[in-house]
Amino acid sequence: MDQNPCMRLTVLGTRGSVPICGNDYTIFGGSTSCYLVEAGGESIILDAGTGLLGAPSSFEREPTILLSHLHADHLLGLGMYKRISQPGATTRLFVPARDTQDARVAINRLYSPPLWPVELSSYKGDLQVEAMPRSMQIGDVFVETEQGSHPGTCLIIKIRYAQKSLVYATDFEHNEEASFRLAEFSRNADLVLYDGQYGADQYESHRGFGHSTPDEGLSLIKRSGAKQLLIIHHDPLSTDSMLLERERTLNHPHVRFAREGKAIEL
Ligand SMILES: [Zn+2]
Ligand SMILES: [Zn+2]
Repeated sequence: MDQNPCMRLTVLGTRGSVPICGNDYTIFGGSTSCYLVEAGGESIILDAGTGLLGAPSSFEREPTILLSHLHADHLLGLGMYKRISQPGATTRLFVPARDTQDARVAINRLYSPPLWPVELSSYKGDLQVEAMPRSMQIGDVFVETEQGSHPGTCLIIKIRYAQKSLVYATDFEHNEEASFRLAEFSRNADLVLYDGQYGADQYESHRGFGHSTPDEGLSLIKRSGAKQLLIIHHDPLSTDSMLLERERTLNHPHVRFAREGKAIEL
C-alpha cells in the first residue's frame, strides 16, 4: 500500500434502491449509496444515501456533498446526518439542477411534508444547496461531470487530484453509446466505481431499470484502460453469499465488490 496516498475512498453505503439489514448483509453492508473521498485536505461525499449516517460529523474543512441524481436511495441519509443539525457547521450540497432555486425545490420534494416532517432549511446547521456545475474545483481537487444513462438523469462524476483520478458511475445502464462515452470519460482512471446491481441472470428481467452488471463493468475497464474497478449499488435482495459468488466468478485481480466500511487508497 502507498505510504502517502493521494486519494482515499471510504465506502459508507453500497446498496441500491432501499437499505436492508440482517445476517445475510454483514459483509457488503445494507446502507444505501454514500462514498467519502479525501484528497488534498478536502472531503467530498458522493451521494447522501443512508450510508451518510456513518460519515464523520466534523472535518478539518467544510465537506462537500455531490449528488449524482435525486432518487431516494441517494438522498435518504441527508435528513438524519448529524452535521446539518450542528449550529455553525457548514456543509455544501451540490445537486443536479439548472440553478440554486431549482436545486432547493428538488431537495424539498423529498424533504417536506407529507414525506418528511420539516424542510432541511429549518435545521440548525448551515446547509448550502447549490446547482452542480459541469466542472468545478474544490481546493486543489478537480470535479467533472458527464451525463450517464438512467431514467430521469444521473451524473457520472470524476474526481482528480495530483496524478490520481476516480470515476463514480452509479445508476448506469449500459448501451453502446453510453458505454462508449463512459469509457472515454474513464480513460486511464485509477479507480472506477460501477453500477453492477444485477447478476447477468437478473439483468434481462430488469432491462430499462437503469442499472448494469459486473460483467459490463469488467468490459468497461478493459476498454478504458482504468486500473481498478469497484462494483457498487448492490441489489438489496443480493445476499453476502450471492455477491461473494459473483466476485469469485468474475475472478479478476483488479475487480472488487464494494464492502461497507472498507477504504481504498490511491
Ligand atoms: Zn440508486
Ligand atoms: Zn437511480
